[in-house]
Amino acid sequence: MGFDDRIFSYYNEIKELNKGKFPYPRFLALYPTNMCQFNCTFCDYKELNSEKPKQLSKIEWTYILDTFKGHGGEAVGLAGGGEPLMLSTIEDLLEYANKIGLKISLITNGLNIDKNKRNRLYNLLLETCSHIRVSFEAGSAEVFKMIKGKDCFHRILENVGELIKDKPEYLQISYKYTVPYSFTINDIESAIKIADEFGFYVPNHHGLNEKDILNICDIINKAI
Ligand code: SF4
Repeated sequence: MGFDDRIFSYYNEIKELNKGKFPYPRFLALYPTNMCQFNCTFCDYKELNSEKPKQLSKIEWTYILDTFKGHGGEAVGLAGGGEPLMLSTIEDLLEYANKIGLKISLITNGLNIDKNKRNRLYNLLLETCSHIRVSFEAGSAEVFKMIKGKDCFHRILENVGELIKDKPEYLQISYKYTVPYSFTINDIESAIKIADEFGFYVPNHHGLNEKDILNICDIINKAI
């Protein structure tokens, strides 16, 4: 179903709203932890990350997922507020959400994805997720370090690149790129080229105004 058609799938929910009833949501955004290995300049959560690190217990997330599924929920999006792959029980969560029939999407900084280990987490990402967005926020190691405070752009790119090679066809892996500063927009051409070279599903941009979007369309047209 294309983006333009998706609204029609909400026909029954809109009828419920018209009757004054509140339909249950199909999508649950779950922030399983506020912990994170980075310290991004634009992060709204970094003080919370370092001062009050918290994560949901297995009992808590099982209850949330069961309750959501029990009311007809269809999909869960793991994101933050923190790095979801820092949750100590993330493998169990992925396995459980998949077992009870929820579609899973994930926004991750990618640091815990390790191609050399091809461990339980690596395999579960491939087996259980339908969409993964990796938040690079840059198109070069230099800008990545300026924004995120760590020099690991290439390491994450190589690991996620392997994940892309190993992935099933239906799994979409996107290159997330927020544009909080003017200097990051200059890095966008490089980000688009890298996303294309490594086979990312689509570059995914945030924080853009109309003028930025027109600039990017121009850059994409020249790059392809
Ligand atoms: S990776 Fe995300 S959660 Fe972590 S510091 Fe950066 S913006 Fe915040």
